[in-house]
Amino acid sequence: SIERDAEIQEARLQLPILGEEQVIVEKITEHDIVVIVGATGSGKTTQVPQFLFEAGYGSDAIPGLIGVTEPRRVAAITTCQRVKKELNIPNVSYQIRYEGDVTEDTKIKFMTDGVLLRELQSDFLLSKYCVVVIDEAHERSVNTDILIGMLSRVVPLRRKQNRPLKLIIMSATLRVTDFTQNSTLFATPPPVVDVGARQHPVTVHHNKETREDYVREAYKKVCKLHRTLPPGDVLVFLTGVQEINRMIHLLRKTFPEKAADEGDKEAEKTEDISAKPVQLDKYDPYENKDDSPTEVIVQAAAPDQTDTKEQESSESEDEDIQPTPHDRSLPLLALPLYSALPPDQQQRVFNSQSDDYRLVVVATNVAETSLTIPGITYVVDSGKVKTKEYCPVTGMSQFRVVWVSHASAEQRAGRAGRTGPGHCYRLYSTAVMGNVMEKHTEPEISKKPIDGLVLQMKNLNIHRILNFPFPTPPSLSLIETAEKELQFLDLLKPGQTVNNTPVNKITDLGKQCVHLPVSPRFAKLLLLAVEQNVTQFALTLVAALSVGHLFTGPIPAPFKPRAGHARLLGDFMVILTAVGAWEHSGAGQPWSAAHHLRYRALIEIRQLRRQLANILAQNHSVTLEPLLKPPTPGQITSLRRILTVCLGDHIGKLEEGTGSTDLYSTEVVEENVQLHRESVLYGLHTEYVGFCSLEQESTGVKMRVVFGVEEEWLPTLLPNKCTFSDPLDQPPP
Ligand code: ADP
Ligand code: MG
Repeated sequence: SIERDAEIQEARLQLPILGEEQVIVEKITEHDIVVIVGATGSGKTTQVPQFLFEAGYGSDAIPGLIGVTEPRRVAAITTCQRVKKELNIPNVSYQIRYEGDVTEDTKIKFMTDGVLLRELQSDFLLSKYCVVVIDEAHERSVNTDILIGMLSRVVPLRRKQNRPLKLIIMSATLRVTDFTQNSTLFATPPPVVDVGARQHPVTVHHNKETREDYVREAYKKVCKLHRTLPPGDVLVFLTGVQEINRMIHLLRKTFPEKAADEGDKEAEKTEDISAKPVQLDKYDPYENKDDSPTEVIVQAAAPDQTDTKEQESSESEDEDIQPTPHDRSLPLLALPLYSALPPDQQQRVFNSQSDDYRLVVVATNVAETSLTIPGITYVVDSGKVKTKEYCPVTGMSQFRVVWVSHASAEQRAGRAGRTGPGHCYRLYSTAVMGNVMEKHTEPEISKKPIDGLVLQMKNLNIHRILNFPFPTPPSLSLIETAEKELQFLDLLKPGQTVNNTPVNKITDLGKQCVHLPVSPRFAKLLLLAVEQNVTQFALTLVAALSVGHLFTGPIPAPFKPRAGHARLLGDFMVILTAVGAWEHSGAGQPWSAAHHLRYRALIEIRQLRRQLANILAQNHSVTLEPLLKPPTPGQITSLRRILTVCLGDHIGKLEEGTGSTDLYSTEVVEENVQLHRESVLYGLHTEYVGFCSLEQESTGVKMRVVFGVEEEWLPTLLPNKCTFSDPLDQPPP
């Protein structure tokens, strides 16, 4: 039996969920599927696996693993450590994509949702497990949604085999009807256990004005709070590693960690953290897709779970806080918290409470619901979150800092009321909250272009997407369009016929594309470019198309090709020239400004190129060349052919003189689409053009990012459908 530490036992008894242990265990005995709802910090993640273990799951009576999935790596690792410590047994393990400590004796296994999804591919019945707990279901990450859909089918199969698999879905919010009132998913609605919340009142203060530099605002707020308010630890919400490190650096310069002079060892230790090279969390979409989001926007919270009173801040916003360097009388320990932080440093935020100083944890939104830091009295909320956004036209995803939803803001405020009454300082006005911020955050699945998702599901052997029990299904026509497009790109091919409909299967090429964090179309482009030895150019093009607008004004003449092959590469040549010229110029900010280039975009292109090159290098001989040479005529032709293959459903025939075209695509024939005036090919006598995207303008539909296509590459061009032989098989024109 379990012998817990006295101190741990006492802490457990404070958790609301402890009072529900019996109810939870009974419900799980009676039902195969149970939903548990409880406010953040009520003890779901750390306690439910222990309840299951003590109820005999994983023992000889009910053999199998207790599996717990988390959308974030940070939660998988730290909760594993915590539960191991609380249970005082060694059989608690974790598994994230590349690492883990699972052994034959493991009883409880914490993992990212991506890990369990992959296990489903080789063992659809999850025969190793007796229980699966899907944690943080309210976040509605695509992986979690798909897992719930798949498990809804696994559970009845296991019941039939007389080896029941229990499924527990845990959510921090009461918005669970997508799971419970969804008869496609669960024919009988699963019971919901509401753990209830023990929440103290939190007074909310808004800034009168909303300043752009929220890191600076947060710093000023923490300094003022630290100098004037009674003891109590602080949790600051920022959006990413760089911001967090900047904030910590500022705070460490302003306040000492210890009141006296001794103890500088500790200071050195923490300095190491900020001195570490900044981690590239901004572009890790591959990690996100496959394993665990480093930062994902969090789903809606029931606003009534947090008892908040709103109150306009009475302080003058113009008063500038002048930090006195090293205020020795006011010790403060500032610690970072984000997903990419090494586990021992993550653990520090839980072990660093002390009466000797004020603890300030500067976190991303992992602290919103994934991890509860005990004893927080003050929350400082930037109101921002870094989220992955998709451009439906290019199919590229991109990280952006956006306003959180009301529901998230309420969750964040609630962090201040766990152990006693607290205060939340919002660095944005009530007007921003009322007019700009959304009420709830949409499930990730409804924001994602469906082609990448469909390909991923096919890779998981889910063949009939239309029948898949999504908690929130994407529209059917979108699924069909995506399948057609993927088939066109040779990433899917018709397989067996089921009920008179051929079922598409993933091709070998499709399987390779799944590993690249860009839309399938651009993944294929990269793979073809590797084959044709034009990788460096393709990396730049794909990266550039993914970071949004490159130019801040009219394209400077030197970037526009004037003649020959380069001209036929069209707007793609402009991108190559602009990015290449900037790198050769020394990659400075003034140069980019002088050439109407967005500096931030250029930096991001550089980072994304590096990341894509690293992934390609895992299976191909690819090295990144930081400085781009101009492409030779032969390379330009190769690039055009690859583009024709990958954008073959985006081809138009220009009518003489008018610059307008009928468009041939797999899906629709648009009429009278025009070249954009900004295009290099505008006014040229190019007959066929391929393009990246369409844009609706007041004067009509315009093609953007255009290149020239040779007629002989398109032998059979049919209205409404273009089938043409692979231009890569033909000799150059
Ligand atoms: P929930 O999943 O409902 O949000 P948790 O189980 O994560 O709640 O947290 C329950 C309690 O356990 C909280 O008070 C939290 O501070 C504490 N806790 C969680 N992880 C750790 C850890 N790694 N070290 C110390 N305390 C922890
Ligand atoms: Mg939790």
